[in-house]
Amino acid sequence: MIKRLTKCVECGSKDLVDFMDSMEHKEKDGRVFVIENIPVLKCNQCGETYQSPQASKYIDQQLEIIKNEGFENAAKEIIKSKGITQEQLGNMLNVTKQRVNQILSDGNLDAQTMIKISKSVNEPVDKLFRFRRIDKRGDKHYIV
Ligand SMILES: [Zn+2]
Repeated sequence: MIKRLTKCVECGSKDLVDFMDSMEHKEKDGRVFVIENIPVLKCNQCGETYQSPQASKYIDQQLEIIKNEGFENAAKEIIKSKGITQEQLGNMLNVTKQRVNQILSDGNLDAQTMIKISKSVNEPVDKLFRFRRIDKRGDKHYIV
């Protein structure tokens, strides 16, 4: 368990509340993406926010979706949560562990591979791999 922050590091206040933060991310091509719903602790006194390790993981996932133009490869997390190791998955798919690792972080998989994985781990394809819509509002992009 990660210990929850009880006191603001900046001002010492104990008035910390859960807050959904957002941040902007600029892609190399100049497009600005807004990452919403980042769970943080916010100090009611000075306004400082603190991200949990879960928050940074969430941000990484969102950045991955942005990089892959909306394609969300959730297979890695789901397979891990089912207790299936990459080695076991490799055996099921008849590929090396290295290839499994590659597949699970790939943003551009072919349908055949996706279906194979879905069958191997007994989870629906659209749960493992999703296309998220990216909305342009004004000059900013949002993942919806
Ligand atoms: Zn504070």
